[in-house]
Amino acid sequence: MTIPEEKISEILNTSDIVDIVSESVILKKSGRNFFGLCPFHSEKSPSFSVNADKQIFHCFGCSAGGNALSFVMKYHGISFPEAVRMLARKYNIVLETELIDPARRKQVLVKESLFRLNKKVMILYAGFLSDSSQGGAARRYLERRGMTGDIIDEFYLGVAHDTWDDAVHFLKKEKVTRQIAANSGLILPRKQGNGYYDRFRNRIIFPIFDINMQVAGFGGRVMDDAMPKYMNSPETPVYSKSRILYGLHAAKQHCRQEGVVYIVEGYFDFLSLYQHGVKNTVASLGTALTQEHVRILKGYAAKMILVFDSDDAGIKAAKRSIQIFMQEAVDTRILVLPDKNDPDSFVMKHGKDSFLALAADAKTIMQFLLGLAMDTHGLSVEGRVRILDEMKQHLALIQDSALRSLYVRELSETLNIDERAVLEKVRDAVVQKNTKQSPLMADHPMDKEILVSDPRERQILSIMLNYPNLIPEVIEKDVLSCFYSKRFQAIAGKIIATKSVNEGFVTNVMAKIDDNRDQELIASLAMDDFSGNDDMAKTANVLMNRIIRIRKKNENILTTKIISAEKGCDANVTDLLRKKQLEIQQLHDSQQL
Ligand SMILES: [Zn+2]
Repeated sequence: MTIPEEKISEILNTSDIVDIVSESVILKKSGRNFFGLCPFHSEKSPSFSVNADKQIFHCFGCSAGGNALSFVMKYHGISFPEAVRMLARKYNIVLETELIDPARRKQVLVKESLFRLNKKVMILYAGFLSDSSQGGAARRYLERRGMTGDIIDEFYLGVAHDTWDDAVHFLKKEKVTRQIAANSGLILPRKQGNGYYDRFRNRIIFPIFDINMQVAGFGGRVMDDAMPKYMNSPETPVYSKSRILYGLHAAKQHCRQEGVVYIVEGYFDFLSLYQHGVKNTVASLGTALTQEHVRILKGYAAKMILVFDSDDAGIKAAKRSIQIFMQEAVDTRILVLPDKNDPDSFVMKHGKDSFLALAADAKTIMQFLLGLAMDTHGLSVEGRVRILDEMKQHLALIQDSALRSLYVRELSETLNIDERAVLEKVRDAVVQKNTKQSPLMADHPMDKEILVSDPRERQILSIMLNYPNLIPEVIEKDVLSCFYSKRFQAIAGKIIATKSVNEGFVTNVMAKIDDNRDQELIASLAMDDFSGNDDMAKTANVLMNRIIRIRKKNENILTTKIISAEKGCDANVTDLLRKKQLEIQQLHDSQQL
């Protein structure tokens, strides 16, 4: 990392974490903190908190935490230098690009070049469509599909002609480097090895925007029955299928207003709904929805409605997507459209109000799955047992236990099977799923005893962070040398090394920490609430004395044991105890708090 610490501090002190997090998480103020649904783990009630004074975030559920930079990194899946650049740009802080590590800098430049190129190519294809002499057939096709001029303009639809080299020529004319051209996904190398040809030919072109309105990639659809019907850009440095949802850039504000997002499959499904005023919609573009997709959407709406065709392919797609939504504990509904309609044809025929009326009756995931299972197995005694066997697998995926027991009740009532019996089946399935168990040394009483001192070490760190004026006492007592946790010791060292004790102390400590886990720890410490304690100095003293005392006592016990084992010439026991000493150390270092 070559970005100077002062620059990072400047960015952290200028940026506002509430502002930054709000772009992707719905936050509500409660007391001194803001709360929202964590974008990093599945949850139904908000345990993700942001503190504006300390400029940190912390999740009480999964203990993700950190500052504005770590949030941006984690949320967008980008590197530290990229996050620095992103915030610097947002807050108009000048950053010497030379300071960034050259390899990373190159990556950033490649991405920027690709975005620039994609935008130009988007304008090229849109130009082809509006060209009166060339774009006629494509315009008539879009008209037949009911697309208005406004929609075509707003989403920059275009057309690729039935040629092999429009894009190739354009890239040449624009003097695009070989590397960028190859990375763009717009052209493909000829099999004979002599040059390139266009990926998109004789297709309607749908530019795919990322959340920041940058053109990440393209989709193309044929205007007749040729195959493949749809074709999308391949994965490129700026186009990641597991993250991008078509239309989210335009839909996001509407999703927030409505608190609901409709998820459809295709471009025309999206565009038709949007055109008819159902603007809180995104399209998955036929790729299976990922956990990332769902987590991104959670930042815009608490409720998600999956809209599917009623044909077999639609039902299959629904079943495939559902697992992800269950794992993420999102309030999800399944809307299967009647009479072989897709969302496009339905809203074109019946209009917005009919669509919304159907959506209001959309099934919950369990109702939907149960319906399918009942259709397959019937409600005979044997059928009901089969249904239960099938449903328990689905239920085991739900992490939220309150939600799970709700579904268990629903299932037991529908199948008329005793609730306890259902619960037992589901529990078995859950156990099978979580076969991995952490090898905690809980059955060794001595370790437990020593672990008791651990929370105190954490508390000392917390006091140092929240009451920097008490740090001199900590140094004087030399309590850090009695810490079992080397990790806590190192963090305490960094807290001590942080200068400005007044304004933005936590921010400045954070700027010194590069380890993600340590950042999370600092964020969780900074969230500690000491209100009600009017003598922190005294509390600190008591804690420090105990830590020192316990360390000495434990050391005496262990030493005595080692000595007596050595006396009895029991080499095994001696080894074991020495190992224990080491393990205790490691255990403390690896403890998640
Ligand atoms: Zn979380």
